[in-house]
Amino acid sequence: MKKFYLTTPIYYVNDEPHIGHTYTTILADVLARYYKLLGYDTFFLTGTDEHGAKIYEAALKNNMDPKSFCDTIVDKFKSAWQSLEINYSRFIRTTDEHHEKTVQLILKKIYEQGDIYKANYEGLYCIQCERYIPDDELVDGLCPDHNIKPILQREENYFFKLSKYKEVVYNKILSGELEIFPETRRNEILGKLQLKLEDISISRKHLKWGIPVPFDQQQTVYVWIDALVNYLSGIDFFNISLETLDMKHFWPCDLHIIGKDILWFHAVIWPAMLLSAGVELPRKILAHGFFTVEGKKMSKTLGNVIRPKELLEIFGVDATRLLVLSSFPVGSDGNFSIIESKEKYNKELADNFGNLVSRTFAMLSKYFNNEIVPTECSSEMKHTIYEAVNSYKSFFAELSLDKIPDAIFSLTSYANKYVQMKSPWIVAKEKRKDELISILSDLLYCIKASALLFYPIMPNVTKKIVESFNETEYTEFDYKKLLEEKTITIRNHKFKPVDILFKKLK
Ligand SMILES: [Zn+2]
Repeated sequence: MKKFYLTTPIYYVNDEPHIGHTYTTILADVLARYYKLLGYDTFFLTGTDEHGAKIYEAALKNNMDPKSFCDTIVDKFKSAWQSLEINYSRFIRTTDEHHEKTVQLILKKIYEQGDIYKANYEGLYCIQCERYIPDDELVDGLCPDHNIKPILQREENYFFKLSKYKEVVYNKILSGELEIFPETRRNEILGKLQLKLEDISISRKHLKWGIPVPFDQQQTVYVWIDALVNYLSGIDFFNISLETLDMKHFWPCDLHIIGKDILWFHAVIWPAMLLSAGVELPRKILAHGFFTVEGKKMSKTLGNVIRPKELLEIFGVDATRLLVLSSFPVGSDGNFSIIESKEKYNKELADNFGNLVSRTFAMLSKYFNNEIVPTECSSEMKHTIYEAVNSYKSFFAELSLDKIPDAIFSLTSYANKYVQMKSPWIVAKEKRKDELISILSDLLYCIKASALLFYPIMPNVTKKIVESFNETEYTEFDYKKLLEEKTITIRNHKFKPVDILFKKLK
């Protein structure tokens, strides 16, 4: 059985989930559902990153101990993902006991390999990034991502010989053994790898809120090193926790989905750690871009941070998933706009897809009392469905997930034009019954194909439509058949009317 293991980053618990987290997680969920439907043994990991100075301080500020503070934020992530119907396989927390043990185990392996040494370090540290910022990255003395002044820190730390793995990592990326999408990001990493590569500090001396370094209890593991290991502990790679089944076969990871700001950690530091520990490298990294909200950078100060709840109240679950997924090209920077999303919702979901469904079922009820024996699909309609399936599959394969809805909307918009062209109301008036049945049959094939294609993105809408065909139990089977053989079946002759799927928004 083929397997597919994909991950989101583990989210830092210094903030409640907003549209940024939502975007990454929806990308992952849609992909996970897709591979699962195609029969892959799929594992989808998400979770939270809970250690570090920033969390420690936030907990103090809230008069809480760090763990209880993390618990409150973790609940918010879990309930947000539940309301968006994110079907993750596991939610990993860096405070999970078996994760802590995994981190220590990896560190021990790297230490035994001779890749860890102790040295003094002095540098400018951004507490928001939780990292030292090299001089050449500073913008007017400030952290480029946070616009704050990093503080001078000097301490004796453990260092990882990152420089030792520079060549190997470079070659793995160059050869495509470790893929990075999009191409521009891949080239950035390759370019940066040709410059001087410094070893990195992997421990902190004065920070209590972290995992103790296994060979020195005075130090805790640097939060980034701690966090990256979640991809192994999430599938209990070393079989540390006895409660879980053996999930080691999911490694190597097929896809790490991340934001472009953390690509260096995933494309260079993480592979180097794995090489040192003797673990196979992940296959692919998707680094998505940043986006503005209504053309402005999202920030608490501007008060334009969008929370998933807000989107769900306007659009409902299914449409939210679709609109967030398709708002801008995956991999590029872009913009998310509630105003534009409403326009798209009205144009494509209400007036195009929704209208096709309601007008077809209205005719079915009016002319045939919801009962017809469908004829074969016309070659014209078959061809259009065939084309849509082809683009759909290639968009998934090339990770152009934003284009997937459009591939389906072009199919439904073709069907709407087909209705205009065939004028079934005239055919009905002239009592050309057979012709009317074949028109409606074509529309039903198209609706069923579209509904199935929407399944990884809008699971509830698909279920509703399939219910009206009285074929609920065949959804998974039919999906696979449509994708693999490009064929579509209608088994029943009786149909149920469908309620309005998408009410128009003002
Ligand atoms: Zn920063």
